[in-house]
Amino acid sequence: MELSLTGKRALVTGASSGLGLHFAGVLARAGASVVLAARREDRVIAEAGALRDAGLSAEAMQLDVTSADCISAVFDTKPPFDVVVNNAGISREDAAIDMSVEDFEAVLATNLTAVFAVAQAGARSMKDRGGSIVNIASILGLRVSGHVAAYAASKAGVVQLSRALALEWARYGIRVNALCPGYIKTPINAEFFATEAGHAVTKRIPQRRLGLPSDLDGALLLLASDASAYMTGSVIAVDGGHLVSGL
Ligand code: NAP
Repeated sequence: MELSLTGKRALVTGASSGLGLHFAGVLARAGASVVLAARREDRVIAEAGALRDAGLSAEAMQLDVTSADCISAVFDTKPPFDVVVNNAGISREDAAIDMSVEDFEAVLATNLTAVFAVAQAGARSMKDRGGSIVNIASILGLRVSGHVAAYAASKAGVVQLSRALALEWARYGIRVNALCPGYIKTPINAEFFATEAGHAVTKRIPQRRLGLPSDLDGALLLLASDASAYMTGSVIAVDGGHLVSGL
């Protein structure tokens, strides 16, 4: 089994904070040359610098995944990527009865349409040599909860998109898999998990704790590396058993 990424070039979108920043470090420590991309250029520049100071290979690029021009600029760089981690994501929490169509569309634009656009740009550059695309979905793409209709719909879209792209791109040696984290403590949800409602959610996780970013390392490295050479269209949940919590 080969979990090493030595000699591979990897792109992580949304790498300015949270899981994306963590993933960039994991891939770099596995030997990849990593590009950290996000809208907050100052942050990715600083974080790529910190990785280089630790002796790893990292560079930064500004990227708004909802901008076709930005995506082209990232994929025009050489050499091409072997691994693309589609991680950028947003969440707007609101009762569905109150949510504006604009907010709904904003979540879909970042979490689903942009995942397609980045995956497509990645696949076009990988077409002659193969590669691995890892789409970060969520257990909310597989089950639902209150006040996250747009987010849950977007992540369900990512799950099914991953399968559809896996089917079409297997002929190019491009693997497309979805990683569905459960509730992992990061800036996207830290505030919520400090509330009573957040504590109640944590109690419903069979392992009775929130995930740590490092809990995702095994699945990420598996999907990014040649260890998963015969896996495509797979959907892996890493959630402390949340999906099998009793009804
Ligand atoms: P986070 O800390 O808020 O990070 C989100 C990242 O996405 C930021 O780096 C942000 O960077 C980037 N981003 C947002 N919009 C972008 C855009 N238009 N273009 C480029 N980058 C953009 O959240 P997180 O918890 O790490 O979440 C990362 C991914 O994991 C998301 O897809 C999320 O849905 C998924 N996930 C998280 C959890 C969890 O419990 N934390 C569970 C399941 C799934 P900039 O603002 O600098 O652009």
